[in-house]
Amino acid sequence: MKKILITGGAGFLGSHLCEELSQNGNDIICVDNFFTGTKQNVAHLLNKPNFELLRHDVTFPLYVEVDEIYNLACPASPVHYQFDPVQTTKTSVHGAINMLGLAKRLNAKIFQASTSEVYGDPTVHPQVESYWGNVNPIGPRSCYDEGKRCAETLFFDYNRQYNLNIKVARIFNTYGPRMHPDDGRVVSNFIVQALKGENLTIYGDGNQTRSFCYVDDLVEIIIKFMATEKGFTGPMNIGNPNEFTMTELAELTLELTNSKSELIFKDLPEDDPKQRQPDISLAKEKCGWEPKTQLKEGLQKTIDYFDSILT
Ligand code: NAD
Ligand code: UDP
Repeated sequence: MKKILITGGAGFLGSHLCEELSQNGNDIICVDNFFTGTKQNVAHLLNKPNFELLRHDVTFPLYVEVDEIYNLACPASPVHYQFDPVQTTKTSVHGAINMLGLAKRLNAKIFQASTSEVYGDPTVHPQVESYWGNVNPIGPRSCYDEGKRCAETLFFDYNRQYNLNIKVARIFNTYGPRMHPDDGRVVSNFIVQALKGENLTIYGDGNQTRSFCYVDDLVEIIIKFMATEKGFTGPMNIGNPNEFTMTELAELTLELTNSKSELIFKDLPEDDPKQRQPDISLAKEKCGWEPKTQLKEGLQKTIDYFDSILT
């Protein structure tokens, strides 16, 4: 049994990770400032003796004793990370410095939830880990993209300078139950709109692509990655390579919800990446992993979740 710190543990991905790692018998400290996460997401874990919830902002130092750290604290939806961009950069950068400092003192293994956004609006397709990306340093997405890029730099410098055991994963679009209904990301927006009989808002012409991974597949690879040998640091892409246009996603959502809603077109946000698909050869080779859940199946489970909380 390990003592494990999960920052951002009350968020969408973090809460699933808390659930899985606590079920495996580990002692979990879940840290969150509840900016986008909720106590509700981890309410079912609160009465477990091996689960502890702490309100804390990772931009401030944290003193706890643990064996492993999963650093997920950071808003992930463009709407939320652009709400207070200075705080977003601080969360990624100061948060990484604080968590890496903690890991160094404890000689603890540390996982970083990096992102496909480090590739920006990619000119290499599908994206491989060796690609350095095409990122605007001064645009509305930069607080997130550059914050996460700087966090990667810090992780690799702590690895080189202090021999810290790091695991850096570049997460591609992931969806599933416990996304916030007002999260603002495309999957939750479309499902909530379809269930409420509102029009589905497509930004731009709907031909931009994303590759969507169901949360259970993602949690599986995060835990497998953490268990790899010390020398293997990543960065490693994790996600589902099946790529869809936003129009295809909207149409599938309408079909699965039996909704009569229509598609309406709105302005494309600035610097919105045109295409995105992970090359997951490294994850396959190092962890013997590939996602199992197809979009249709994962969307249905997510629709069932939203249906249960909206009615
Ligand atoms: P989320 O917004 O649901 O979760 C983020 C959590 O971090 C929330 O609970 C939030 O309250 C917390 N948080 C934010 N700032 C904090 C701070 N300063 N101190 C403490 N807690 C703070 O988003 P998510 O989808 O669960 O994403 C989790 C992590 O995975 C993020 O780091 C995100 O960048 C990364 N990621 C997610 C995706 C995805 O598709 N879901 C893709 C790429 C990367
Ligand atoms: N998008 C959309 N309608 C929405 C929300 C998002 O068409 O209601 C588009 C958005 O412009 C982007 C894609 O869906 O091209 C994915 O957006 P999301 O915010 O989910 O994630 P990210 O852009 O960070 O991949």
